[in-house]
Amino acid sequence: MSTVLIAKNLRKSYGNIEALRGISFNVNKGEIVGLLGPNGAGKTTTIRIILGLLNPDEGEVQLNNITHDDIAFILEKDGLFEKLSVYENLKFYAKLFGLTEPFHKIEEITELLGIEELKDRKIVNLSRGQRRKVVISRALLKNPDFLILDEPTSGLDPMAQIQLQDVILELKKRNSLTVLLASHNLHEVQRICDRILIINKGLLKFEGNTKEIKDSRELENIFRRAVEDE
Ligand code: ATP
Repeated sequence: MSTVLIAKNLRKSYGNIEALRGISFNVNKGEIVGLLGPNGAGKTTTIRIILGLLNPDEGEVQLNNITHDDIAFILEKDGLFEKLSVYENLKFYAKLFGLTEPFHKIEEITELLGIEELKDRKIVNLSRGQRRKVVISRALLKNPDFLILDEPTSGLDPMAQIQLQDVILELKKRNSLTVLLASHNLHEVQRICDRILIINKGLLKFEGNTKEIKDSRELENIFRRAVEDE
């Protein structure tokens, strides 16, 4: 299995707050990796370093056979244009990503996400879940090899969460997309991830294959042990 990303001994402080204290892990091609950890554990900092939005104080991120252009990401602030329609937003970004014939791609993706009927609605009028689907559509316009999602389903109702999880699984199946997913939802991570990383206070506390975790009760116990204060 080829490795897409190698994070080596990442350290990052904000003033005197040590957000990352030496984190190392790999992400392999075609796998969905879940990044778990309590509030303030360092998940977003890790993601921002991977994306090149933040420099680590120490350590490095190596990308193998992909560049930052092959990575699509979804962070908390989505940057959609409120007063434009879903279609206008997607068309704008398609142009930005250099797509010459965006129409078919937008059709294909909005169908996959089940938001074709929202195309003419303004972003400002969408529900949170609908909006999230637009953001994921935008990320997919790039035809990414690697998708990085920071809490993609937070605040969504259970059906919307399941729909989005299914889309991620479908993308993995269709395009052997690699995904790094930060989440607080243990059930979600267990349902869709191949491997789980748990960080706490800037350290990697657990790494394991989801298949080897029997049920959500066992994952809960693993999580509890990983985040207990040493
Ligand atoms: P959450 O689950 O709450 O989103 P997280 O695991 O993503 O948390 P980070 O956002 O990476 O955690 O934060 C790690 C630590 O770094 C926290 O203690 C946080 O307060 C601190 N931190 C993050 N960004 C900044 C910043 N810009 N300035 C100062 N401290 C920061």
